[in-house]
Formats: sequence, C-alpha cells, structure tokens
Amino acid sequence: MPHGCVPGLGKRRRTLSCAARMGLGAFTALAVSAGAAQAETVVLRDFTLIDGTGHAPVAHQALVMSNGRITWVGPAAGVKVPGGAKVQSLRGAYLLPGLIDNHVHLGLVNGLAQDVKYQTPDSINAQLATYAAYGITSVQTLGTEKDLIFPMRAAQRAGRPDRARIFTVGMGVVFKGSYGGVPGLDQKVATPGEARRMVDAQAAKGADAIKLWVDDEFGSIPERMPAAISTAVISEAHKDGKKAIAHVFYRGNLEELVREGVNGFAHTVRDQPVSRQDIAAMKAKGVWQMAATLSREASFTYSTLPFLDDPFFTRGVTPAVLSELGSAERAQKLKSSPTFPKYPQVLKLAMDNFAAEAKAGVPYGMGTDSGPTARFPGYFAHWELELMVKAGITPMQAIVAATSSNARFMGARDIGTVAPGKWGDLLVLDANPLTDIRNTRKIRAVFIAGKAVPTIWDTCVGRSADACGVRP
Ligand SMILES: [Zn+2]
Repeated sequence: MPHGCVPGLGKRRRTLSCAARMGLGAFTALAVSAGAAQAETVVLRDFTLIDGTGHAPVAHQALVMSNGRITWVGPAAGVKVPGGAKVQSLRGAYLLPGLIDNHVHLGLVNGLAQDVKYQTPDSINAQLATYAAYGITSVQTLGTEKDLIFPMRAAQRAGRPDRARIFTVGMGVVFKGSYGGVPGLDQKVATPGEARRMVDAQAAKGADAIKLWVDDEFGSIPERMPAAISTAVISEAHKDGKKAIAHVFYRGNLEELVREGVNGFAHTVRDQPVSRQDIAAMKAKGVWQMAATLSREASFTYSTLPFLDDPFFTRGVTPAVLSELGSAERAQKLKSSPTFPKYPQVLKLAMDNFAAEAKAGVPYGMGTDSGPTARFPGYFAHWELELMVKAGITPMQAIVAATSSNARFMGARDIGTVAPGKWGDLLVLDANPLTDIRNTRKIRAVFIAGKAVPTIWDTCVGRSADACGVRP
C-alpha cells in the first residue's frame, strides 16, 4: 500500500493516485523484481469478458498487460503470471474495452458559459479526465479545436496517457455566413478553392479526418453550404487520404453528400424519415451513420434536465452548475426559445432514422456531440447508449458501436477491443451491461494504457471528496 493510501479512512483522505488504486482494491505483488528494464506487468483475472467485437461474453477470463498493452487474454485457469506482475482479482465484474465517443468538442465551456476563449490545455485536460472517469477512454473532437490540440495529441501518442485519448479533425470547414463551427476560429470559406486550401491545411497539421457542416438552424440562416463547396471539401479530404465527416440535418443534404462521397455523418437526418433509397445508397457506398447524437437531441427536449439528482451526473459537475441547471429562470428561458417545441419531433426522427439504418445494415458508431454548454462529457455517452438501445438496437450492438466500430471508423488500430496488441484501455463494471445497458454506469474501474485512473465514483467536482457520499 503506498504511503498515504490507507483503507478505511474514507474518501477524503485519499489522494487521486491513491483513489485510483483504492478503486481497484489492493494489488497483490506476487513477486518483487528489481531492475529498471523490467516491464510493468499487470494481470487482471476472474472477470467476464465482453471483448468489443460482438462475441458472446465469456466468464472466468484473465488478461496480461505489459507496459500498458495487452499481451495475453484467455481463461483465468490458464494464465501464466509473469514474475513481478501485479495481480488483481475482478471477481464478479464485467470487463469491456474502454468506450469511445466519436463526436465531442473540447474546452468550449467554463461552467455553463460557452466561449472558445476557455479552450486551454488545462480545460481540455480537465475534460479528458472527466471522460476517463466515465470510462470513455478515447474521444474524437469534431472541428472546434484550436491548433493546440495537435501537440496535446502528439504528447499522448508518444507515451502512455492518463486520461482519454484525443483524435481530432482540427478545425472543421464552415461555409462563410452559414451554420457551423464556433466564433473565434478561422474556419470559414467562401469558395471551393478556399475550401480545398483549408482542408489541405488541416491535413498538413495532422488532422485524423476532415469535418464539414451543412445546416441552416431550422431555416434561420439564409444559406447552407452549397454542393460546390461540400464536393470540394470531400474530394480534397480524399486526395489527402482523410475521411470526410459531415454535420447534416436535412434528408436532401444526406442524399447529396452521399452522392459526393462523404464517409460518415456526425448526426442523423432530423427533418424527415430517411428513405429506402437513402439507406441503399449509404450501404452501397459504405457510408457510416457515425454518430446519432441522440443524447444531444434528447437534452434539448427538457427545460430542466431529468438527471439533476443522479449521483452519476452530479459528481461530475460543480454545485454552481447544478444550481444553474435547476433554476426556474433557466427553465423559463429554454421553454420560451422558438426551437424548444421542435425538439420532441427532432428526437423522434433521430431515433427512428438511426434504428432504420442500423436494422438495414448501415454501419454505425457512437457519438454524443458533448462539449458545448450543458452537454456533459462522459455522462452523455452513457445516456447515448441507453437511447440507442431504446431506439431499437441491442445492448451488445450499442457496446460494439462504442468500441470496435468506432475504432474501425477512426482507423485507430490499437484500441476498441480487448485483444493482444491493443492498449490496455478498459472499462470494468459491477453488473452485466447486456441485461441492462444502464449497467455501464456501475463502474468499478477504468484503465488507460494499463493504469487505473480515478472513476466518477472517486470524483466529487468542486466539493470536498466526501461531500458526494459513498457510491450507491
Ligand atoms: Zn458537434
């Protein structure tokens, strides 16, 4: 037991690294082996494995991680414990790959106030820690990040991160005067030539993909991105070896963007049902419903969010944010917005269109569009999984979407499943998520690159550590 990490004293006495260890229970050092070149080896055993591929769960499994990567997975009875390994029993637990949220925006808010001026390494790092606490071990940011995101991603990729991994499109492409992006970023283009130059610039910085927006905020903005520009963005992305990811709202734009060769949609169509022809075209061209962002649409149907007394939520936000979210003034303001009455139907269409595509065999991932004000990192991913299941897929399909499918779309070869060679990015649950998808909230432990990180149940933002009470 490390110094200062004494069990039985209550959470307030724990340091963060201590909390991370305590969240796991005590490691047992089977053998102590000196030597700087010795690999850091961790053995987890006696869990039920849900490996992210869609294979049926397997009980009584074990895995070995060395220097943060998985080196062996198999029956616990057959595990060979390397000398010097730390061994941890996870009896009664379910072990999954860490979840991936493929549609987020980082560092946009301070409390509920939104402004790109808040985007700093510190605010981004704090959000990445929050994602990790919720078991979201990788995120893909979709187009509102300053260039500072690239060195942060590079630093992670050079080592073993202790919070959610960053994948990023850099700045997305916005048609000048139209919908998309955030104020304060240089991301607006007026001509196909400017669009191509912007795509090339993002690709040169190392963007993992290219993002574009095609929308007009319920017709309140005069013009959507014209086809001449979206065609330029998509074809230039492909020339640069990148996938093109589109924000879409209207069915007609989906049809056009599929024709232009877009690779994935960051939202569903929300103005009308997608047609059989749309679905057939998506399948024929391998276009993904990458993110359905059902939690985004659902959040807009509430004037007061329905989880303000849920400890899984409240632990992750400050008391000031909680009180603002619960205020009658805020509820009144939201209710009087002209778009507020539109969202129940928007949500219904989003769910129906997602379900129709999924059932027809359109490939899909999981993404929330968390990060703008009142769309909360981590919590929304669990809500998203719940809404995807409510829409009509199985819990297993939702888990596969959020793990191996997301990794496949993102071209992230060493995350997304629990298998030798992959990073040890893991989510350990106290209950079976296949019988109730809401069991993804029963988080026992989260590992990133083989190391335990504090979970939401070790967290109590903006208060003393014991102010959130014990975990339920
Ligand atoms: Zn977004």
